Amino acid sequence: MTTPPDAAARRAVPPVICYPNETLPKPPLDLYRAARAGAQKVDEVIAPPRDAAHFRVPAGHFFRISSIEGPQVGDLNLWNADDLSERFYSGKSRALHGTHLTTGMRMWSSFPSLRPMATITEDTLGWYGIDAFGGSVHDVIGTRCDPYTHNLLAGGQYHHCCHSNLTRALADATGMTLAQAEPHVHDVLNVFMCTGFTRDSGQYFMKASPVRPGDYLEFFSEINLLGALSACPGGDCASQHSSDLAACHPLLIEVFAPAEGALDGWQSPPPNGYDRRHGG
Ligand SMILES: [Zn+2]
Repeated sequence: MTTPPDAAARRAVPPVICYPNETLPKPPLDLYRAARAGAQKVDEVIAPPRDAAHFRVPAGHFFRISSIEGPQVGDLNLWNADDLSERFYSGKSRALHGTHLTTGMRMWSSFPSLRPMATITEDTLGWYGIDAFGGSVHDVIGTRCDPYTHNLLAGGQYHHCCHSNLTRALADATGMTLAQAEPHVHDVLNVFMCTGFTRDSGQYFMKASPVRPGDYLEFFSEINLLGALSACPGGDCASQHSSDLAACHPLLIEVFAPAEGALDGWQSPPPNGYDRRHGG
């Protein structure tokens, strides 16, 4: 390998944002917040430690994920409740918003729909920002802890990884078998997880989550949603996951319905407008 004479000049080229997002439709946060102010709680479910729970949120409702007993990371999957083939698209949400999501950002769905599934309306960890290590909270860069990678790196059979927890939760929600449910499980929003990439090696890192009981992340549901949330076996993800060693805590999911008429003028977003002819 030879370094070219103009290497420094090539490295010095300034970066350009891949997807300038000024043209993204802006979520009407003021309307959402006004609707939330008059909303009533209609449901709640607990994701037990090292396990997952499922929940349903009609379009125009809100859902909140809260830390309740101790620092805990959650792995979130979302599906269109009426068509499981439309699901959260972590990679495109990352391309549009960046590596970590916070208030005003959206969870976008898979092709061909590519529309907002949920909009983050409140984030009590929004103060964290980006720390000196390049770490931040609620990433869309990780995938989910899973028993296959665990087997590859450490051997053994660990069944309470988020991937398996989400598989069981989706099977419970739909009546599918585990084998039928598994292919629907997808890359997650890492709720409360603090992560980044090391500057020197570019490796995915995690560190103890800054979340404390009482913290929450709240969403406006843009379409009818089926959700599943796994309380990761990594607990606060300070040291390791895919084992029973970390202290783990439950996570609370609450659903809120807006008052009649509170969303007048709002419409659930339609699927993407591309005509799908692909030049054929
Ligand atoms: Zn996990």
